[in-house]
Amino acid sequence: MTGASTYDLTGKRVFVAGHRGMVGSAVVRRLASENCTVLTADRRELDLTKEEPTLRWLEANRPDVVVHAAAKVGGIAANNNFPVDFLCDNLALELSVIRASHAVGVRRLLFLGSSCIYPKHAKQPMAESELLTGPLEPTNEWYAIAKIAGLKMCQAYRRQFGDDFISVMPTNLYGRGDNYHPDHSHVPAALIRRFHEAKLANAPSVSVWGTGTPLREFLNVDDFADACVFLLKHYSSDLPINVGSGDELSIADFATTVADVVGYRGKLVFDTSKPDGTPRKLLDSSKIRAIGWRPNTTLGSGLAATYNDFLQSGGRRLDAIVRS
Ligand code: GDP
Repeated sequence: MTGASTYDLTGKRVFVAGHRGMVGSAVVRRLASENCTVLTADRRELDLTKEEPTLRWLEANRPDVVVHAAAKVGGIAANNNFPVDFLCDNLALELSVIRASHAVGVRRLLFLGSSCIYPKHAKQPMAESELLTGPLEPTNEWYAIAKIAGLKMCQAYRRQFGDDFISVMPTNLYGRGDNYHPDHSHVPAALIRRFHEAKLANAPSVSVWGTGTPLREFLNVDDFADACVFLLKHYSSDLPINVGSGDELSIADFATTVADVVGYRGKLVFDTSKPDGTPRKLLDSSKIRAIGWRPNTTLGSGLAATYNDFLQSGGRRLDAIVRS
């Protein structure tokens, strides 16, 4: 099933593991327009890192489809500083959710990877075939190793048992429901918050980590959720599939774009004591384009909607902190 044939979600029970996260919540929003039943489990109700309770929960709730969006995630600094959490929590989640899904006979499972699974110096744009062709970027190798293991588990279950488990590799995501922690967030949320606070404080300059030269590709999380639903319906293979926007720019240009969206007019100062990470991370998304999916949010409009969401949710609280 790649493109032509279709898995019908109508009437299916779809469990979104990690429904409070940025990706999981976007998948839940997107599934609302499908004729299916969405299942979620509150963290207090179920610890997905524990296999026995996860198995019992799946036995009781009998999903046909699982979207494995539960993960320990964070930006370049968090990845660097909490290697045990990023490696072990993610491995535990994968072992628990994927094994239990197999045990209860889940028909389709979508595992979420990341573009950081590809080698630091992979050929750009990075095709799926670049996997395991060279050393990883050291700042996020803990997370990358865990995600590679998850992808391999899906391949192994398909090979040994014929399970229809697929792996999807998103590029750098941004959008509604992101984490705005000043140290642990990814670059889009970090800069939205920092520029917003600088605007309120009339700060003459704002620091941007690294040299500003790394190149990154950004995709809106609602577009990504749409791609996940599309792939659940149209993609079945042991090969992972990339999902990118093709919107690539330097961190310096990205920072300028975010400053414009937020309305911050001060100076950007590059803090080269902070890591750059991998020099370039552009996905080759020709495979998903060939089977008929493309994003429909521009970076400018997506960032504007994200900033609005930030203002409506965390913004007020942050305003208070800045003013006090
Ligand atoms: P990465 O794409 O896996 O490296 O993860 P990030 O989203 O955390 O970082 C992307 C790039 O943005 C790196 O080159 C960082 O140096 C740069 N960057 C600039 N300012 C910030 C910031 O405030 N937070 C983060 N996380 N990254 C920043």
